[in-house]
Amino acid sequence: WTEGTVTDAENSLTELAALAETAGSQVLEGLIQRRSRPDPATYIGRGKVDDLGAVVLSTGADTVICDGELSPSQLRNLEQRTKVKVVDRTALILDIFAQHAKSKEGKAQVELAQLQYLLPRLRGWGETLSRQTGGSGRGGGAGGGVGVRGPGETKLETDRRRIRHRISRLRREIKSMKTVRVTKRSRRSRNAIPAVAIAGYTNAGKSSLLNRLTGAGVLVENALFATLDPTTRKATASDGRLYTLSDTVGFVRHLPHQIVEAFRSTLEEVAEADLVVHVVDGTHPDPEEQVRAVHEVLAEVGADRLPELLVVNKTDAADEDTLLRLKRLWPDAIFVSAYSGRGIDGLREAIEARLPQPAVEVRAILP
Ligand code: GDP
Repeated sequence: WTEGTVTDAENSLTELAALAETAGSQVLEGLIQRRSRPDPATYIGRGKVDDLGAVVLSTGADTVICDGELSPSQLRNLEQRTKVKVVDRTALILDIFAQHAKSKEGKAQVELAQLQYLLPRLRGWGETLSRQTGGSGRGGGAGGGVGVRGPGETKLETDRRRIRHRISRLRREIKSMKTVRVTKRSRRSRNAIPAVAIAGYTNAGKSSLLNRLTGAGVLVENALFATLDPTTRKATASDGRLYTLSDTVGFVRHLPHQIVEAFRSTLEEVAEADLVVHVVDGTHPDPEEQVRAVHEVLAEVGADRLPELLVVNKTDAADEDTLLRLKRLWPDAIFVSAYSGRGIDGLREAIEARLPQPAVEVRAILP
């Protein structure tokens, strides 16, 4: 289903396919439906559900991935109609984050996001049972001692309570990990080392640029979300001053709000930077849309007022017309190729020119 143009939908679907492949799926077929709004019961229209069912049968697919966030009942109805597992964009992104999280903090953040997603979607025998027991089922003694359930509580309620408990525990843990990071950061700011954050849409080439700029061996993957945990490297400016460069979480359109929420502390680190280097993929069919998506997330974490240096990457592979168009659109942007190294010296100079000037100590010597 799409509310935008078919081209928007196609771009979004291509990205969804790339995301699915990143998550380890094999993509068999794509279906687009143009509607003014999603069907409340099945997300896609009823007729389209039959088409989808036919595609599932003919391809032997075992999963349907929808490009959007579906309500719990839409997911359930679609599953019943297609007889296969139905996953939405949010669940897919959460899955990829879960596969890629490496640090303790990153893992905790992903788990928090997953549990928040799961909570309203929990269902099971408990739910049907509590409904059958009717009014007396809630709160009070739900038909005391039925099967494996605890007295007065369905399995579902127990699960929900456990999850809520785990959520608050994770929140506490993440908070304390954040304190450690903040302490490290304040040590750095006491030493007045300027910080540069590399932001940009996922797969734009942030890790590759970080490698180019610092010679550090950061993992580069042709996969969405190769970067989850922020990596910070030291760099030296031509005048010998030190600054740090950090790679940040990959941004993606419709980043699930659970992710923004869970990664808030990591994302907020961007807001503490002295400069944001915003990397754009010059080969992408719609770079402006990517820039908009990144700006949205930056605004959400309060990093939209920082000085920003726009960098168009992959000029080695982009077509000339696109590059000309982008040069007109963003006259102050720096055009580079992390691959060939083209424009990297210019980028280094542009970064250095925008670093805050070192504080000059002025002492008045009074007679
Ligand atoms: P990140 O997700 O933004 O950190 O992006 P990566 O640095 O992991 O790069 C994503 C993909 O783009 C990888 O396949 C890189 O090899 C590729 N890539 C990065 N920089 C360039 C470039 O300058 N030119 C070309 N052609 N590909 C690049």
